[in-house]
Amino acid sequence: MVKESIKYVLVVEDSQMFTRILKRSIESVKQFKVIAVANFSDLKLLLSENRYKFFASLLDVNLPDAPDGEVIDYVLARHIPSIIFTGQLDDSFRKKIYNKGIVDYVLKEGPANVEYMVSLLNQLNRNRKIEVLIVDDSKGVRSYIKHLLLIYQFNVLEAQDGIEALQLLEENRSVSLVLTDFNMPNMDGLELTKNIRRLYNSQEMAIIGMSTFGNNQLSAHFLKLGGSDFITKPFLEEEFFCRINQNMELLEHIRELKYLATRDYLTGLYNRRHFFDYGDDLFERYKNTHSNIAVALLDIDFFKNVNDSYGHDAGDLVLQQLGIILLKEFKDDDLVARYGGEEFCFLLSNKNKQEALQRLEYLRALIEADSFILEDGLELKVTVSIGLFTGKQDSLESALSLADKGLYQAKENGRNQVMLVQ
Ligand code: GH3
Ligand code: MG
Ligand code: MG
Repeated sequence: MVKESIKYVLVVEDSQMFTRILKRSIESVKQFKVIAVANFSDLKLLLSENRYKFFASLLDVNLPDAPDGEVIDYVLARHIPSIIFTGQLDDSFRKKIYNKGIVDYVLKEGPANVEYMVSLLNQLNRNRKIEVLIVDDSKGVRSYIKHLLLIYQFNVLEAQDGIEALQLLEENRSVSLVLTDFNMPNMDGLELTKNIRRLYNSQEMAIIGMSTFGNNQLSAHFLKLGGSDFITKPFLEEEFFCRINQNMELLEHIRELKYLATRDYLTGLYNRRHFFDYGDDLFERYKNTHSNIAVALLDIDFFKNVNDSYGHDAGDLVLQQLGIILLKEFKDDDLVARYGGEEFCFLLSNKNKQEALQRLEYLRALIEADSFILEDGLELKVTVSIGLFTGKQDSLESALSLADKGLYQAKENGRNQVMLVQ
């Protein structure tokens, strides 16, 4: 998975103990790093230094030198998304802080609430990568909802009816949530939902309808057409965000499951199943566009010795580092997967036999020249044998079995070489 840079979280809290609890919980998420201050004057100093770009803040509203939430305005003025914690909560206070544009408030009363804060931080971090399309004919409604979504760090697009929404979706393939009104001129929310579902299923895009109170029949119809959820206007901000979050979490889980189903857990490369699922289609396509198809199998030489001499974990490290090399060297139109054990398979994009051979020969030499690093810093040399088939074949499977013949010959010939089969 992609590595992410460190995200600094500002904590303003006068209780040392609570700060420690927060720090431990927040930093249990590897990317997050807490920078804490205990009072308003230290906060002013810290922010004036401009040393950190804070991605979010957690603010105590009762500080010795700022007893009435003064820190909230101060931090929000610097455009840092803020979560408030407080010992007490009444309705007028709740309204007051929401109007300022905070993300959420949390009562300071126990571990469950600390966990909730961490989940909020995770949501904010995730939302920055999500594009949401708001569809409503009322400019006022659109800007209100946009304002809410921006607080939660979403990227926001707007459309005034279904037709404009479809156009925007066509241009922005990364939208994963549509919030739509029902009654709109030109194309209403139901018609829009029908059209979106022709393009994206409910695992790829969430559609949340926004209906006015008392319109249950319409909401039911909307769900039957493929709507993911609906929310009745007017709504509380908390309900709005909970529904959005639940829908986004669902999409994320599905995406993760799909990812896991196609990947090898150790190296992050595609697994054998995906190689055949996707590779069969790619092979058919290449049969029409490529005069030669290039399919290869790579096997690490004497890998059993690595395990026997340095242990299974060392063997795993070698496989992982080889995986990194393969991810870097083969991109886009090449398909590479862990075939099993210490074998890797390739369906290359190259049409030219010589070119395919050169690429694999380059890879073989690269691996031979590289040092694999073990846990204790020990460097290990490893070589690989590769069987390459180029030419015409009916199926990926038959091309692969010819590549396997090449691999066998490469091993017989003394290993550390590429053997071409035509
Ligand atoms: P050759 O040059 O003929 O390929 O010799 P080899 O030792 O590489 O081949 P062999 O098939 O005898 O041994 C493969 C070894 O790979 C045995 C197995 O324990 C090891 N292996 C397979 N999968 C994994 C894995 O996921 N992790 C580790 N550490 N070892 C693995
Ligand atoms: Mg083997
Ligand atoms: Mg081997």
